[in-house]
Amino acid sequence: MIQHKATAFCLCLAFCFLSGLFPAHPVWAAHQPSKELKRFLETLDQQNVRYGWKDIKCGGIPWEYHRTTRLHRPLIFAHFGKPSGDCILFFGGVHGDELPTVYLMFKLAHYIQDHPDVVKNKCIVIAPLVNPDGYLVSSPTRINANGVDLNRNFPTKRWHPDAHRQWASKGKKNKRYYPGPKAGSEQETLFQVALIKRFKPQKILSAHSPLNFFDYDGPSSDLNSFEQWMEKISREARHPLKKFGYYPGSLGNYAGHERNIFTLTLELPTSDPKQGSEYFRKFQPAFLKFINLPVTGTPPYTRLVKSDKVNRK
Ligand SMILES: [Zn+2]
Repeated sequence: MIQHKATAFCLCLAFCFLSGLFPAHPVWAAHQPSKELKRFLETLDQQNVRYGWKDIKCGGIPWEYHRTTRLHRPLIFAHFGKPSGDCILFFGGVHGDELPTVYLMFKLAHYIQDHPDVVKNKCIVIAPLVNPDGYLVSSPTRINANGVDLNRNFPTKRWHPDAHRQWASKGKKNKRYYPGPKAGSEQETLFQVALIKRFKPQKILSAHSPLNFFDYDGPSSDLNSFEQWMEKISREARHPLKKFGYYPGSLGNYAGHERNIFTLTLELPTSDPKQGSEYFRKFQPAFLKFINLPVTGTPPYTRLVKSDKVNRK
């Protein structure tokens, strides 16, 4: 009998672990950062000095993480405002060599923390550095430590066979655009997917460089209205608007096209880290306007709240 109970207990414990009741990695917050997180933030601060970013510190934000990269670096994000609903997700440093995007997202996290009115009745989630392994090597790389382009690795519907086919035909098998051995093979991709599943954002902004434009994806039923709104934002920010299209495994495809999430890609004009604060000054109004763009419904049933303001050219 005792043996049976012990066996049942072991089975129950095993079940709990397998079913995810006990997460594989603990949750950490800034008020009790793990040694791993502290070390990581210190490393980032050293990098900031290297890039001349004197006005940001990576600590002091309630960072959370549940996953690490191949080189054991935490995949951090911070959540501000409401626990759920009316959620906007921001991604920076998806490509490790697009340096000012990382500055922009740390700066935005501090700005939102210092201006709680911005998150009133909203939920904002910022993942400032999606590809720390690519960012923290001596010569930063677009790809992660496994050699994968994270913006070609999202599990979109026709990833197999389109991703590899397009990589061979359009990409000429350039290593910078390698989509990975299979869809969603990378921790950094699963990290972004997990944030999308958890927070069900209606809007996502992903920062890249150096192609110098705004691009957008979203529900096809509202794409024209979103485009009109983007034209206005583009004029106000004096930054070109371009419909770049999407790739197998890209965020625009996964989130915008397949899940009807309003997805804005900001391509900065250069990858020069010295431009960080200038870019924040230039694009901060657009970030705030995107945060305030009225959208209703939970994805995939999101739509723009039609108002004169949105529709006015
Ligand atoms: Zn990029």
